[in-house]
Amino acid sequence: MSERRSFLKAIIGGNGAAADLPPTFKRDYHKELGIKPFINAIGSYSSLGGEEMWPEVIDAMDYAVENKADMEDLHDKVGKRIAELVGSEYAMVSAGATSAIILGTAGCMSGLDVEILHSLPHADNIKNEVILQTSHKYLYDRALRVPGAKLVFVDTQEDLRNAIGRKTAMMFYVRKMKGQIDIKTWIEIAKENNIPTLCDAATTVPPIQDLLDTVKLGFDLCCFSGGKGLRGPYSAGLLLGRKDLIIAAKANGSPNHAAMGRSMKVAPEEYLGMMVAVETALKHDEDADMVEYYKLTNYMADQISALDGVTTKVQSTSAQGMEPYVNVDWDPDKYKISKDDLKLALRNGQPCIELRAMFLSFGELHLTGHMLKRGEEMIVARRVIEILLDHKMGEN
Ligand SMILES: *Cc1c(COP(=O)(O)O)cnc(C)c1O
Repeated sequence: MSERRSFLKAIIGGNGAAADLPPTFKRDYHKELGIKPFINAIGSYSSLGGEEMWPEVIDAMDYAVENKADMEDLHDKVGKRIAELVGSEYAMVSAGATSAIILGTAGCMSGLDVEILHSLPHADNIKNEVILQTSHKYLYDRALRVPGAKLVFVDTQEDLRNAIGRKTAMMFYVRKMKGQIDIKTWIEIAKENNIPTLCDAATTVPPIQDLLDTVKLGFDLCCFSGGKGLRGPYSAGLLLGRKDLIIAAKANGSPNHAAMGRSMKVAPEEYLGMMVAVETALKHDEDADMVEYYKLTNYMADQISALDGVTTKVQSTSAQGMEPYVNVDWDPDKYKISKDDLKLALRNGQPCIELRAMFLSFGELHLTGHMLKRGEEMIVARRVIEILLDHKMGEN
């Protein structure tokens, strides 16, 4: 037996295969289509299908498929229920957080003025400026420009006070992002000047408490992704806050045929699914999840660090602290493979294992635990060990 195989056998035992899952589907669609299955050691990323929905959400969605309703009535009542649950004045279900930003911004620009509603994104003659901090320039700020807004960047409080004017439609803030102007001051200055505020808090859940806390901060609007930590439908999201602004946001979306956001249609299944996602998240035992996630990451960390010259650290995303991952490092003189190449080898191997992109992990190799299915932590640990041993100096 090679060093590699005996090492693996000693530490992992057996062949490290995942427990067989009961076959529940009549057809294997991905197989038919030639789509490669993968093990998710990244987390809930939109590009890889997002989070797993709660079973309660799937039940609500099945119900909506069978039971049709008037869409505006459904949306209104779902909005009221969600608002009650989270303590906001009102709520709407959007086609994701990005769509909540687009429609929320549009609502702040248009109010219920029909002429403006029909002319967006042409917005030169109306309030069309959105102010944000330069440090809050981020992956999704394009959404603010979709309804025709122009972005005005500021750094200091003085900049902000100077930027506020006749054309200011909204002040935008990204939760958990740093800037010279803190969150309280941002809201205060907006209120002094009677400017509506929108906060992107898309990925702050879990913990669900962060959603409740964001609502209480005093933003006029805040938005969340439904298909990430809330474990609702993939393409749904939430816009929470002031009723007048949310009604204006809704006027910019489906089912209004002439609205700028008509294409951001939300299905009845998603309305109910989103509502039940919020209900379920509020009841769920997050601490028990954390115990489980740490068990998975600690397992992978222990297995992999048993290799000579390899170190592992269990860390957690700083923003939420609810997504523990293993940071794997090794002595480059002992193993001749870069982190990039190990990540590629995991992707191209059998089975395919996906890890966080290097630009999101600051060049480090991160193995995330919370999206792994039962037994997959063994496969991930085993594959990392195999690949490292394949590149061990003096072995090949
Ligand atoms: C994911 C994300 C979004 C987009 O959310 P969708 O629901 O996919 O539209 C917006 N803002 C932040 C901070 C995000 O992480």
